[in-house]
Amino acid sequence: MSDAAGEFDLIARIRARASSGRDDVVLGIGDDAAVVSVPAGRQLVVATDALNVGVHFPEATAPADIGWKALAVNLSDLAAMGATPAWCTLSLSLPEGDAAWVDAFLDGFLALAAQHGVALIGGDTTRGPLSVCVTVLGLVAPGSALRRDGARVGDDVWVSGTVGDAAGALVQWRAGGAFDATLRARLDRPAPRVTLGLALAGIAHAAIDVSDGLIADAGHICEASGVGAEIEVDALPASDAMQAAFDVELRRELQATGGDDYELCFTASQDMRETVERAANTAGTRVTRIGRIVEGSSVAARTAHGVAWTTGVAGYRHFRA
Ligand code: ADP
Ligand code: MG
Repeated sequence: MSDAAGEFDLIARIRARASSGRDDVVLGIGDDAAVVSVPAGRQLVVATDALNVGVHFPEATAPADIGWKALAVNLSDLAAMGATPAWCTLSLSLPEGDAAWVDAFLDGFLALAAQHGVALIGGDTTRGPLSVCVTVLGLVAPGSALRRDGARVGDDVWVSGTVGDAAGALVQWRAGGAFDATLRARLDRPAPRVTLGLALAGIAHAAIDVSDGLIADAGHICEASGVGAEIEVDALPASDAMQAAFDVELRRELQATGGDDYELCFTASQDMRETVERAANTAGTRVTRIGRIVEGSSVAARTAHGVAWTTGVAGYRHFRA
């Protein structure tokens, strides 16, 4: 990079702010690779997700929000595995060496990293179209990771928090008019459900984070587990902001199919209902029962009146026969 700030200036800025605060980082930013101490008797859990401008976030997104979200979507993957986040790396592709942009980006990125005690231990900085790729590393007790493939017939299906908010914010943003700040915050600054994921270890049979849309993601659990699911779309938890901003039909659609909420969708046996509620209480996150696991291979959605519900979104390809 030869613009305002060169690659090495940018890396120096990142390094100066990425104080680890973890004594298990043997070697952080600055060498050819990072070295960390993995505690004995733990399994390492690794997730990576890239965010591209115009695809994963609108071009006008504030750099601090891009930083927050780039880490949040990755921490959400660890949450869905029931893992404790520990370390991360950051690959930045930037159209120019814009130091102010990197500083603002780090404001969001490092604020969320600090919240979860995650150390930034390395990465890469190159010139190209704006793209951010983060890898997170976390830890679980052996065999205790929450997987997609453990759902059993008869399980309840649960979801955390509220769904549809991020999709609602995107609809309002695209419409260009007034937008609701609560919804917008869900889109720009999703809160990964790390504490809930940890609390569900040993309780949930299967889990996934809601990034593609609730029905699609429930479908991923079904596919991996070799089961079907019945989901009651009217049981999907809606925020007050969602209820105020959209009519029932559009709200259902956004809640059932909108992505980017980063809530957890999970299954647990029916006799664990109280245990699930207690775990969620401890984690400070509400959870709602939205359906059950049945024999089959696809997700059937119904309204509160038992009427089969299908999305009106053309080309939506996540319902499988
Ligand atoms: P190399 O040529 O060995 O790949 P780099 O010049 O790419 O080294 O990186 C130097 C150091 O800075 C490495 O420790 C690398 O992990 C770190 N680094 C580079 N870019 C970033 C970034 N965007 N965020 C965090 N660390 C970075
Ligand atoms: Mg490099």
